[in-house]
Amino acid sequence: MNDTLTITFWGVRGSYPVASPATAQYGGATPCLEFSAGGQTLILDAGTGIIALGNVLARRAPQTLLLLLSHLHHDHTQGLPFFAPLYQAQTHLQIMAPAPADRALEKHLAQIMTPPYFPVRWDETAAQKTILPLAANAALEWNPDPAQPSLLIRALHSLAHPGGVMLYRIEWRGRAVVYATDVEGYAFADRRLISFAQDAAVLIHDAQYTTDEYLGLAGPAKQGWGHSTAAMALDVAQAARVKQLILFHHDPQRDDDTIARIVTQTQSATIQVMAARQGLKIELAPCPQTFDFFESPKVLATDPMG
Ligand SMILES: [Zn+2]
Ligand SMILES: [Zn+2]
Repeated sequence: MNDTLTITFWGVRGSYPVASPATAQYGGATPCLEFSAGGQTLILDAGTGIIALGNVLARRAPQTLLLLLSHLHHDHTQGLPFFAPLYQAQTHLQIMAPAPADRALEKHLAQIMTPPYFPVRWDETAAQKTILPLAANAALEWNPDPAQPSLLIRALHSLAHPGGVMLYRIEWRGRAVVYATDVEGYAFADRRLISFAQDAAVLIHDAQYTTDEYLGLAGPAKQGWGHSTAAMALDVAQAARVKQLILFHHDPQRDDDTIARIVTQTQSATIQVMAARQGLKIELAPCPQTFDFFESPKVLATDPMG
């Protein structure tokens, strides 16, 4: 049995998708991550990156998929109408997202696919769909295949983004990965997030802006817009003692050379820092019986996908 947890980055760009030679290296699709463990597939966010993932998943046997949405902003949902398994009767798609104040989560999801904005209606798609609003501090086990160990999912609702956002901690066989996109750093760092991410193997953190952009030294100040700088992400990673920090939700106007420069400028003596790249795969082996505190995650490939 392949007992590793594999994370594949299908979309890493924030705000809106881009396609140009200057952004080809890190990729232009909006957020989508695939977590694969013991034959079970969990998806984080449904930006345009989910379209290429869906084309792979659609060729598989009947499957139960879990889609966790951080929030409903366009860049995290705009791939859903083009997600091929949504149109297959053999798919059971479970969707979990933060519960909106009006408790109408399914209605909000259906609005994404409503004429005149999209020709196919949500309730005309063939997949079996289960919509589950998540409480602010939800914790649950997900286990569509009882023969496999459960994936443990913890949620933390944050107001450090307009309208709020759900942060996720995924644990499998003693390894933890934290997904904290669309969050703005607080002064002295976000103490709740630091506690939530404590000792995780991998922290995937919003890093949309440079410090100059955030402070208004290059265009309008971005304070209050709901995104972090790479320095803010590193502060959280260091305080939480994670082993690897992956800078995520790249600004759509950021070219490849500048992303590489930001990584170079965001170094730590204790943490491996890298930028999320479309096509990046990270594999985490199960935690051994004797807890290996210093084991680093293994990077498998960084080839951009088609
Ligand atoms: Zn976003
Ligand atoms: Zn957002």
